[in-house]
Amino acid sequence: MKVIIVGGVAGGASCAARLRRLDEKAEILMVERGPYVSYANCGLPYHVGGAIEKESSLLVATEQTFREQFAIDVRTRCEVVGISSKQKTVEIKNHVTGEVTTEKYDKLVLSPGAAPIRPPLPGIDLPGIFSVRTVPDARNIREWLDRDVADGSGMHAYTGMQTVTPAKRAVVVGGGFIGLEMVENLVHRGLEVTLVERLNQVMPPLDPEMARLVERYMVRHGVRLELDDGVAGFQQSADGALEVLTASGKRLPADIVILAIGVRPETALAKMAGPANRQGRIAAEVIAGRDSRFRGTQGTSICQIFEAAIASTGASEKLLTQLGETDFEKIYLYPNSHAGYYPGAKYIAMKVIFRKSDGRLLGAQVLGEDGVPKRIDSFAMAIQASFTIYDLEESELSYAPPFGSAKDPVNFAGMVAADVLRGDMPLTHWNSVDGGFLLDVRNPPELAVESVPGAVNIPLPQLRARLGELPRDREILVICRSGQRAYYATRILLQNGFKARNISGGMLTRSHLAGATK
Ligand SMILES: Cc1cc2nc3c(=O)[nH]c(=O)nc-3n(C[C@H](O)[C@H](O)[C@H](O)COP(=O)(O)OP(=O)(O)OC[C@H]3O[C@@H](n4cnc5c(N)ncnc54)[C@H](O)[C@@H]3O)c2cc1C
Repeated sequence: MKVIIVGGVAGGASCAARLRRLDEKAEILMVERGPYVSYANCGLPYHVGGAIEKESSLLVATEQTFREQFAIDVRTRCEVVGISSKQKTVEIKNHVTGEVTTEKYDKLVLSPGAAPIRPPLPGIDLPGIFSVRTVPDARNIREWLDRDVADGSGMHAYTGMQTVTPAKRAVVVGGGFIGLEMVENLVHRGLEVTLVERLNQVMPPLDPEMARLVERYMVRHGVRLELDDGVAGFQQSADGALEVLTASGKRLPADIVILAIGVRPETALAKMAGPANRQGRIAAEVIAGRDSRFRGTQGTSICQIFEAAIASTGASEKLLTQLGETDFEKIYLYPNSHAGYYPGAKYIAMKVIFRKSDGRLLGAQVLGEDGVPKRIDSFAMAIQASFTIYDLEESELSYAPPFGSAKDPVNFAGMVAADVLRGDMPLTHWNSVDGGFLLDVRNPPELAVESVPGAVNIPLPQLRARLGELPRDREILVICRSGQRAYYATRILLQNGFKARNISGGMLTRSHLAGATK
């Protein structure tokens, strides 16, 4: 059996290697248009930033590895330019010699990936505007940034005289994963960075109020945000620098522009061959006769931005709303990343979404500077296993003070959600507090920082003694900083015959619902 694999990076290379492990006799040819196979494109932003210093570190396996370890014929700088599914042949163009040859196949695997979107905007081909997909892209960006230094007066390198070299300016277009990673890495290299995003939030998988936290964090790290504004074109100004023109009429000066506005699947070949899209390893298993199937995706992701991680899995509230779903509830919570008494604990911001009717976990968004990966992966596995929030309450997770708490934030999320569904803690949200009696159970010094107009303050320790001050004919909506003291207060009130609800996430959630990103 002869198998031709088009594309030699993540999907293609996994498919080739897995197929060899399953079938020692198959003749395998892997064709890759670029100069490298099996490279870590996920590491490219960090190579630009310098955290991964050597380009060679990105090359996970070389052509030689594939030839020697796996007996796979690899042809780099070769592009499959045509497919005849009738004759079972492909045409391969060698970009070095220009020669086009025809190869027969029994099975064909297409793994051509997705190309960065480069819309036909005025000036898009000006020098200094880059996408980030390949090792040569990262090399070109590094060279461009270094070249500018070399092309300057050179006085900054002359130790006898103090000179000021102005920071270079970068505009990153697109606030998704690659855009954010590039922002971080360009800041790390000392550039002044502006992020332009057409939507009114960064990180589209997050719900907007969670994205607000990320936006504020970026602003605190010196990033300028231009949200709700698309790029309309590019110009070169008189001094040779670039200018990014936005839809709202702004002109943003830049020494470099990074386009990270998404990718478009390379489907031209697939159209010639009919549908042939599977994940690499599964494709190999199917070719080798095994009954494997791709289970689909639930969108689990994590992205670093400065010291923090932004992670999500499953459905967001905006997705469920778009789908017309109403059978869900959400909770916000801010637990410590590990035991508060062990140094270095940071609070984690969590939004957890679950089905009201049966408690099934639907989605989670987790942000913070510590402990995020452990929690998002727990939620991701829980969703795959169709867990309910009652399962989360009981899940046995690893614990020692540097890593977690006796009740892990994931258990804690389950407990809070279960309290809601069992009726132990009726819940409400900031967008539906109108008409309720607002009771703030924080301590007076906290109110000096920020308070809610119209809320009555009775600090939690005084609540039992001052119940007489509260109305019995109205629903009492309880506020604290994060929702925990409000929970205790809600329990006291309910057991004393009051109608009460906890405002989920307290003042912390209120602050990020408020916006203020720029
Ligand atoms: C900068 C960056 C950062 C990323 N970070 C992360 C991350 O942190 N986490 C994560 O999960 N994912 C990340 N990704 C996404 C991840 O890299 C992709 O999901 C993955 O590379 C997809 O693998 P693939 O094999 O389908 O496609 P690709 O990796 O795109 O490989 C396809 C290859 O096929 C070649 N090709 C296309 N057409 C032809 C043809 N006709 N003939 C021959 N060869 C052809 C292309 O040149 C390309 O090299 C990142 C991607 C980028 C670009």
